[in-house]
Amino acid sequence: MERRNKKVVIVGGGITGLSAAFYMQKEAREKGLPLDVTLVEAANRLGGKIQTVRRDGFVIERGPDSFLIRKKSMGILAEDVGVAEELVRNATGQAYVLVNGELHPIPGGSIMGVPTEIGPFLKTGLFSLAGKLRAAGDFVLPRSSIQGDQSLGGFFRRRFGGEVVENLIEPLLSGVYAGDIDHMSLESTFPQFYEVEKKHRSLILGMKKSTPKKLPQKNSHSSKKEGVFHTFRNGLETLVEAVEQKLEPGSVMKGVRVEAIKEPATPDGKTILELNGGQQLEADAVILTTGHEMAGRLFAPYGLLQDLRAIPTTSVATVALAFPEEAVVQDREGTGFLVSRSSDYSITACTWTHRKWPTTTPEGKILLRAFVGRVGDEAIVDLSDAEIEKIVLADLNKIMTIKGKPDFTIITRWKEDRPQYRVGHKQRIADAREELKARFPQVKLAGASYNGVGLPDCIDQGRAAVNEVLEDLFE
Ligand SMILES: Cc1cc2nc3c(=O)[nH]c(=O)nc-3n(C[C@H](O)[C@H](O)[C@H](O)COP(=O)(O)OP(=O)(O)OC[C@H]3O[C@@H](n4cnc5c(N)ncnc54)[C@H](O)[C@@H]3O)c2cc1C
Repeated sequence: MERRNKKVVIVGGGITGLSAAFYMQKEAREKGLPLDVTLVEAANRLGGKIQTVRRDGFVIERGPDSFLIRKKSMGILAEDVGVAEELVRNATGQAYVLVNGELHPIPGGSIMGVPTEIGPFLKTGLFSLAGKLRAAGDFVLPRSSIQGDQSLGGFFRRRFGGEVVENLIEPLLSGVYAGDIDHMSLESTFPQFYEVEKKHRSLILGMKKSTPKKLPQKNSHSSKKEGVFHTFRNGLETLVEAVEQKLEPGSVMKGVRVEAIKEPATPDGKTILELNGGQQLEADAVILTTGHEMAGRLFAPYGLLQDLRAIPTTSVATVALAFPEEAVVQDREGTGFLVSRSSDYSITACTWTHRKWPTTTPEGKILLRAFVGRVGDEAIVDLSDAEIEKIVLADLNKIMTIKGKPDFTIITRWKEDRPQYRVGHKQRIADAREELKARFPQVKLAGASYNGVGLPDCIDQGRAAVNEVLEDLFE
């Protein structure tokens, strides 16, 4: 009897869906599994939020610009698709926080704002004496008695007081999620801090103990720190292009949107995916990587996943400004700055990209990338390009001298696109998965809305979904 191939459909061609498709096909090839994989992407291109613009010798990222090296899965995927040699590490340099109109160096030895060295913390102008004394309370304060999840803001305020949170921890942590740390989940964003408190009580002492001592680097006579981020010489789309090339011919549908998911008529029957244009796809298993809002919409007819729709999203915009060198006077060393909420600025951060990522910028040019928009301050994202550019330039001019107009500016809006991991997020996601499993066990959820927004977290989720599907179908 002819053996019929199982069919897996992956919905969404961002990094989660791409990595799922790649690893699913790789497993099938290597293990000789009878499996057909189709990746369906609504846009006419793959990559989702990864979007690189290559223009006039510049490499400009509209969305993510790099990833943490210590989270291994991006590096492994780069290796697996043959582009690991293209990886470049960020140049290190001083980063700043803008507080009360002044740029303050981030104190040495602070890990996500938590001090592990006392000297730089005592010397910094970021906090008043009273603020520093309150932060020292961390040495003596007991562990939290809160069981279960709590807000990041609440957790850090209790240990260090408000000033350290407003002027250092909040700008650093909320940057990753464009979120409000007084609502963000500790458990789903930075659970390591909770673990450190549980184990060591004091975060300062605990972080100090659990941070590996820096070993002298092999073949190096300098004590210069190494960057902790990677990107690709020619932009993050290098990875997207390489994965796409490795996908089996005919397995990708671009410009095709999944509009409905139909329950199988029999328990061993196929799920039907209805596509725009009236076409249908049959699937034995589905990996849904579209984001939670679309997942909620697709399962609304069954009354499933409606709690996911309560996960809020924020709007942000990235503003890349390319200048000739002589147009910008920068009298400070360093790679960029974050802006504290209390500052009277519209930008939330700015990377001096030509310094942090020298391969992005041609000789004699300068590339700045500013961010606008965050929870509670999103209206700016709806302004016109000209208005946003004007506001960003006015902000930048307060702390550096910009003498001319940019050669060009690239503004990218991410509307309602950054999922917020609120207190209770982990439980909400676990409940949603259980709910779906009871009626649609063949559909798996993966991607930035669920178990981590970083690019490596998305790949980990893509791979986990692949393993689950293979187990369901073949074991
Ligand atoms: C401005 C910005 C900066 C960031 N910076 C970083 C960073 O430096 N480092 C980092 O690690 N992370 C960063 N992130 C986060 C990271 O980029 C994202 O979390 C990640 O790219 C999300 O990948 P994904 O595949 O889960 O989702 P997406 O990339 O959003 O992909 C989902 C895909 O599904 C498709 N889709 C949706 N609905 C349908 C449908 N019905 N049918 C078919 N297809 C559909 C969409 O078109 C999209 O292509 C940043 C994000 C933003 C917005």
